[in-house]
Amino acid sequence: GAAITVSACGKTYADGTRALHPVDLQVKAGETLVLLGPSGCGKTTLLRLIAGLETPDAGGRILFDGAEVTALPIEKRNVGMVFQSYALFPNMSVIDNVAYGLRVRGAAKAERRARAGAVLEMMRIGQLAERRIDQLSGGQRQRVALARALAVRPRVILLDEPLTALDAALREHLRSEIDALLKRLAITAIYVTHDQAEALALGDRIVVMKNGGIAQVGTPREVYFQP
Ligand code: ADP
Ligand code: ADP
Repeated sequence: GAAITVSACGKTYADGTRALHPVDLQVKAGETLVLLGPSGCGKTTLLRLIAGLETPDAGGRILFDGAEVTALPIEKRNVGMVFQSYALFPNMSVIDNVAYGLRVRGAAKAERRARAGAVLEMMRIGQLAERRIDQLSGGQRQRVALARALAVRPRVILLDEPLTALDAALREHLRSEIDALLKRLAITAIYVTHDQAEALALGDRIVVMKNGGIAQVGTPREVYFQP
């Protein structure tokens, strides 16, 4: 995974909303960094800046492994993204959803199916390959969304409240699977949540956000067990 540098990145939306004050942040290669904070504090905005779905206000810069990506759109950054709402194609099969990003990148059909199939096995949903998305449960959909994000072998995976739409038991189960997966792949991951338990369980480091800024950055221990 790539190391990420966020330098003086703020965001003011077109309607004048100041969603993020200029922030600095270093993400280490291979770590899972959690952005934690209440609704409206700017977590998603910061994630979207790193993804390339939004551009920062003037002066803000984002670097992957030291190379500037500030002006690059999401397709050029080699990031995978997972959303709370899955954002899958409902009428397409599971395997076609997972292979979609590979098709966009011009991979041949046989390679697409082999790679998508391997990632589905990794997510333990190989048996669902030919199902349509609208025939799946929420937990199965989120596994497909994760598989789709990983299939392109991204340098960075960005997860925006991926478990929030699921019920409590499933949330915990999938959380520990995601934890194991991110560690095994050693991919740089940024995980947005408002849930403290999730942040503690998943984060190598936690960024505590408040009112459009960063209040604190540290390991779970540093953030929660200060004397
Ligand atoms: P969080 O992810 O922590 O809930 P967001 O980054 O989504 O926070 O939002 C931060 C602030 O920016 C909020 O006040 C939100 O209403 C506002 N905001 C988010 N997206 C937009 C947008 N596209 N246009 C205007 N304001 C926005
Ligand atoms: P290869 O062509 O290198 O043999 P495969 O498609 O057979 O690649 O996948 C090799 C293994 O890597 C599989 O177990 C696959 O699930 C796993 N894998 C899939 N996506 C990723 C990823 N983003 N990073 C690392 N490993 C991945």
